[in-house]
Amino acid sequence: MPYIYDDQNIFAKILRGEIPNDTVFENDHALAFRDLYAQAPDHVLVIPKGPYVCYDHFASEASDAEIIGFTRATAEVCKLLGLAANEGDGYRVISNAGENGVQEVLHLHVHILAGRPLGRMLQKA
Ligand code: AMP
Repeated sequence: MPYIYDDQNIFAKILRGEIPNDTVFENDHALAFRDLYAQAPDHVLVIPKGPYVCYDHFASEASDAEIIGFTRATAEVCKLLGLAANEGDGYRVISNAGENGVQEVLHLHVHILAGRPLGRMLQKA
């Protein structure tokens, strides 16, 4: 089944400049901005500029340049916030996908969470 990208999602509107955002970093292929409803002292979302629904969509169909630009953007955010595991207290990267992943916004994003102990990754169901 093909991936269906809806360009009316809120992150597409942010990329078009229709909705403001608190930008942390930007390059040709990615935008990083603070989550509006932060769940940790540092909570940054990194999104590709291309129309990708979720992580596996991006990983399978994005160009090498997009993948490099997006991945390097996550590294720049870690550097800018002083989180890198070799110099800071660490962080967590999460990307939710689909119904079981409880993805709310259908434009790929990774959450970078940091600034406090984050606990175990998952609670037992
Ligand atoms: P997910 O559940 O992984 O799809 O996460 C979507 C995230 O987007 C949530 O953490 C929201 O708090 C965040 N969010 C929704 N609208 C905005 C917005 N306008 N600016 C920044 N973050 C947003």
